[in-house]
Amino acid sequence: MSNRPALPPEIGRRRTFAIISHPDAGKTTLTEKFLLYGGAIQMAGQVRAKGEARRTRSDFMQMEKDRGISVSASAMSFDYDRYRYNLVDTPGHSDFSEDTYRTLTAVDSAIMVIDGAKGVESQTRKLFEVCRLRDLPILTFCNKMDRESRDTFDIIDEIQENLAIDVTPASWPIGMGSDFVGCYDLLRDRLELMDRSDRNRVAESVKIEGLDDPKLAEHVPAHLLDQLREEIEMARELLPPLDHQALLEGTMTPIWFGSAINSFGVKELMDGIGRYGPEPQPTSAEPRQIAPEETKVTGFVFKVQANMDPKHRDRVAFVRLSSGHFERGMKLTHARSKKAMTISAPVLFLASDRELAEEAWAGDIIGIPNHGQLRIGDTLTEGEALKVTGIPSFAPELLQGVRAGDPMKAKHLEKALFQFAEEGAAKVFKPAFGSGYIVGVVGALQFEVLASRIEMEYGLPVRFDASQFTSARWVHGPKAKVEAFTQANKQHIAHDSDGDVVYLTRLQWDIDRVQRDYPDITLSATKEMM
Ligand code: GDP
Repeated sequence: MSNRPALPPEIGRRRTFAIISHPDAGKTTLTEKFLLYGGAIQMAGQVRAKGEARRTRSDFMQMEKDRGISVSASAMSFDYDRYRYNLVDTPGHSDFSEDTYRTLTAVDSAIMVIDGAKGVESQTRKLFEVCRLRDLPILTFCNKMDRESRDTFDIIDEIQENLAIDVTPASWPIGMGSDFVGCYDLLRDRLELMDRSDRNRVAESVKIEGLDDPKLAEHVPAHLLDQLREEIEMARELLPPLDHQALLEGTMTPIWFGSAINSFGVKELMDGIGRYGPEPQPTSAEPRQIAPEETKVTGFVFKVQANMDPKHRDRVAFVRLSSGHFERGMKLTHARSKKAMTISAPVLFLASDRELAEEAWAGDIIGIPNHGQLRIGDTLTEGEALKVTGIPSFAPELLQGVRAGDPMKAKHLEKALFQFAEEGAAKVFKPAFGSGYIVGVVGALQFEVLASRIEMEYGLPVRFDASQFTSARWVHGPKAKVEAFTQANKQHIAHDSDGDVVYLTRLQWDIDRVQRDYPDITLSATKEMM
């Protein structure tokens, strides 16, 4: 990372990141504050990124509103200081882990938000593990410091032990709960004081010459000041100092303390992503890696979303630009079909509002409206045959049969199912024997989401039923062997929405048997998206 050439300034100022957290830790609130400071409100023209207003717009499904969870990922861009931030929103619920995994392939770093009273929670840990698979740099925000929270050393210890990552304090909280007055900024020797009277006001910031500066006593009550000096002394002794390289390698996380709802600590966190967060990184691809500074444009689809706007029956492919300077109207080659596409109406996303993008650079996320040509994992180039790698599709963990409430509407159901398969919202299998479809998902809630979307978007009530199968594996091997295998195991065979052969079963024993009896056949729980 360190010996790469300097990037063109427009690319070097990009910071593309996601927020990972357990539900309720404050991700939405933090996002709102980012947008507030980032002026996205004015940039978007329409987005009023405050409170429920944003929520209403980004949670476009009734079910999301009912449940208060965010099912869809969107990307938001905003400028702050000299940086361009691209925040890719990850679905918060554990049932959408596959979607989240793919979203994390599109970012260069992640912010981990934890609740100061609760510490590292289950969903945070799962998402953290996904980030670790890719060695993503992680910056930590410990939220809700205006409430009774845990001891600062306890929180840091827990992260270090639970997640096996070094933690370095970027700021240190002063007091807690109703006593919380603000933070000492350890990276810049400043005192940040929280303003409780106005939640949207940027905190007051006082330059301090080290911990002996008499100015401290003017702002911090004596008992808290003694404690602060003692704690910082201890922290400096016990905790590692910021090591930028370790941060970029994902082995150290700096932690900021704050209160998103009071807009406190948010600016420091943004500054931190700007100053220490990684710039756009190279993208893995076959037959060669793509570097962001390459002049030719390349990008890849990491998410497809259909029916974002009920008035337009289109799909939007979310594309992370891997290299180059994109301009509206450009012709790009769709690597899978080798067809040229003129990208005439790319969009930048701000919550669920859209804006035409005139230009974009490596690191940016753009939306490309299309009629289904663009699928997850697709690569776009200026002609070179490149294929971005590492965007997997996971075998579903839950399978159910699906039927249209009205048997006359079977064709409509098929269309709906294929659309959701394309979006990556579910796997759809057509069994070789019998009629109907089997739908596979990673988390049970996804069945409900699907049923509700099929009804809303296609006016089609559907029923999910238990399936005789519980596992699905993609079948790989030489063509003739796969055919022979298919013939001999017809009652277990289905095809997915790409036409690939899948083995369905309810017994691990069957899978083991296949591996034993058919040495040329591999049953795989993942497939690279093509
Ligand atoms: P998400 O589920 O992670 O998106 O969390 P939200 O941003 O929706 O926040 C969950 C709840 O915590 C909401 O009721 C917020 O108002 C509240 N909250 C968020 N940040 C803070 C904070 O800094 N202090 C306090 N006391 N509450 C907060």
